[in-house]
Formats: sequence, C-alpha cells, structure tokens
Amino acid sequence: MLGLYIHFPFCVQKCNYCDFLSGPISSRDVVQDYLQALEKELTIYHDFLKRDGNLKLETIYLGGGTPSLLETHELVRVLEKCRDLFNWSPQMEVTLEANPGTVDIKKLVQLKKAGLNRLSFGVQSFDQNLLASMGRIHSPKMAKESIMAAKEAGFKNISLDLMYGLPEQSLGQWEETLVQTIELDVQHISVYGLKVEEGTVWGEWESEGRLSLPEEDVVLTMRKYANKILRQAGFVRYEISNYARPGYESRHNLGYWTGKPYLGLGLGASSDYWNRRFVNTSNMEHYIFLLKRGQLPVTEEEILSFRQRMGETIFLGLRLSTGLDLEQFKKRYGVEIEVIYGAEIEKLKKMGLLKINQGHLQLTTKAVSIANYVFTFFV
Ligand code: SF4
Repeated sequence: MLGLYIHFPFCVQKCNYCDFLSGPISSRDVVQDYLQALEKELTIYHDFLKRDGNLKLETIYLGGGTPSLLETHELVRVLEKCRDLFNWSPQMEVTLEANPGTVDIKKLVQLKKAGLNRLSFGVQSFDQNLLASMGRIHSPKMAKESIMAAKEAGFKNISLDLMYGLPEQSLGQWEETLVQTIELDVQHISVYGLKVEEGTVWGEWESEGRLSLPEEDVVLTMRKYANKILRQAGFVRYEISNYARPGYESRHNLGYWTGKPYLGLGLGASSDYWNRRFVNTSNMEHYIFLLKRGQLPVTEEEILSFRQRMGETIFLGLRLSTGLDLEQFKKRYGVEIEVIYGAEIEKLKKMGLLKINQGHLQLTTKAVSIANYVFTFFV
C-alpha cells in the first residue's frame, strides 16, 4: 500500500507569502512536455513497484502549485495513466488541490468521473482586502461558488485551507472567516499560521520593516478561536493544523505522519521508499530532459540513520492528537522508546509538555502552541 503525490508547479501568479515550488505557466508547450515527463516517471515507478509486488495505491494527491489550473482533459489523462498502471480501487482517496476560480461544475463532474473523490480548496480567508493583500487570484464570492459547484458535482469530501496571523488581520476578520467556513458545511479544514519565508514578497517587506504583523498574543488568540469555533461546530482536531468531521481525516497526510512509504512525482517532489529519502530536481528543463532519456529525475538521496528515523517517527507522531503509538514504535524499532529517549521524555514531562495516555505519547494542551520546541528534543 502506497501514497502517491504528484506535483504540478503551475500557478496563475505568485502569492506574496508563497515559497512553494510553483510559478506562472510560461507556455502551453511546457505543460505538454511536463505531462509527458510525468507519464514517463509514472511508468518507470510502475516497473519498479511491479517488481516489488506493490502496485496497490492507498491514496493519490495531486498537489502544487495549482493543479486545478490544468485543462480537464490534462488532469483526466494523469488520472487515467495512474488507473492503467496501478491497482485502482474505489476505496482509494484521490485528492486534487484546487484554487477557487479555476474550477467549474463541468470540470468537476468530469474529474469525479475520472476517479477524483476529494477536493482541497486554498481559500485562506473570506476577507476581500486580505485576499488582495496576499496576492490571491480569487474573491470570497468565487471561493463560495467553487465550493457550491463541488457539492453540486457530487463531492462529499471537501477540505478548505485557511490562514491566520496575516498582516493587518484583526481577530474580528479571523472570526468572520471561521464562521463563514462553518456555514459552508465542508468535511475538513486545515488552519495554518503565517510563517514569513525568505525569498517571498512578504519576506522582503519584513526585512525592510514594511510588514505589519499581528502581535504574538493576538496570533495565539486566533489559534484558540479556531480551536474553539471548529470544535463547537463538530470538527475534531486530529493533527496540530488539521480538523475533520469524524471519518474525513486526510488519509494521504496521515500516511506521512504515521511513517508510511510514499512516492513523490513531478518537479521537486520528495519520496520516502525503499528506506531511502529522495528528491527530484527543481529545474524544469532538467526534469523534462532526464525523463526524455528514460532516467529518473532524482538529484538528492539520503539514507536516514536508525536514530534519525526514530526521531522523525516521534515528532511526526506527536503532531497527531492521538499521539505516538508506543507499542507500534517498539514493534518498528525493536526497542522501548524510553531506552533511547528516556531523559528527553522525562524532562518534557516535568515541564508539562508531554504525557503518556493509553499507550500513546502525546503533547499536552500547553505544548501544542510550542510543538516545534518540543520536536527539537528528538531531532
Ligand atoms: S496558489 Fe498556492 S502554490 Fe500558487 S503561489 Fe499561491 S500559495 Fe503558492
């Protein structure tokens, strides 16, 4: 069983905060070459996986960038290629990341027919001024129309991404976005706090002192608002940044957090398979060139040490509300966690940041907002 991630690095324009591997489409020829390269990459991995007897996929995630920017027939072609090459079952979770304004009902109906069963919309905010300042291509109205179109097309598993801690964002604006989100009655919500990254427009503005970010305590209150309002609406926080109605947790992302193998295809995508971590080139010409020659476009490869793997298993497990399953950990590594990390765990327990509950190592409520600090004990 395997998770497959396919990256589409195309967007209408670059958002002011974004450091993902994405950018505007330079020409339709590049898209065609890219799709051909992707098909070749899928075929090469198919041959490897066939040899391993592991052609059964559990999830497919078409991410980006803005994959929904591609023409319907182009996306259908990718899904059909996956269907041809791998064991496709109706139980699979097949997700498309979509930006409001890049889908309509006709497109969504066809994608659903091709096997797509989950949509993840990058909504970010329902405030027009904030959306404009972020450099988003859509309005709140367009976001709502896209979600309604998805429902009309028959999608029953819809996720929205929201962002808080934005420049000039008030608590009131954030609360209003949460309330409008709940009214849309979707199944899954991801809530991310803004991190200003170097190399982005906002990164540059921050270094020039031109970015007016909310105070830290306001950002913390925003986080708490989200938690309270989403819980009251029946969502379960199953991961630090993710809330779902029961049964609608993202299976693809749960795969990452629980250490299942995955393959990432496309520009800059990373994989964790054959006990190796490997990453594709981020250069479009190089990516296309290598695949035209029938070569995998992998440019970095790493074999994690036993200790690195263990550390990663711990901090990914701690991201989940259920925490890290200690029995599973022992089964996987053949050793009790305390033997390796006893001192760290004791210290964090004394600080009130970790607890053990029903055989699981968990972050305490107090630790959730400083989770990255806790993780540093395991890396
Ligand atoms: S749409 Fe998403 S991937 Fe594209 S630039 Fe904006 S944030 Fe980045």
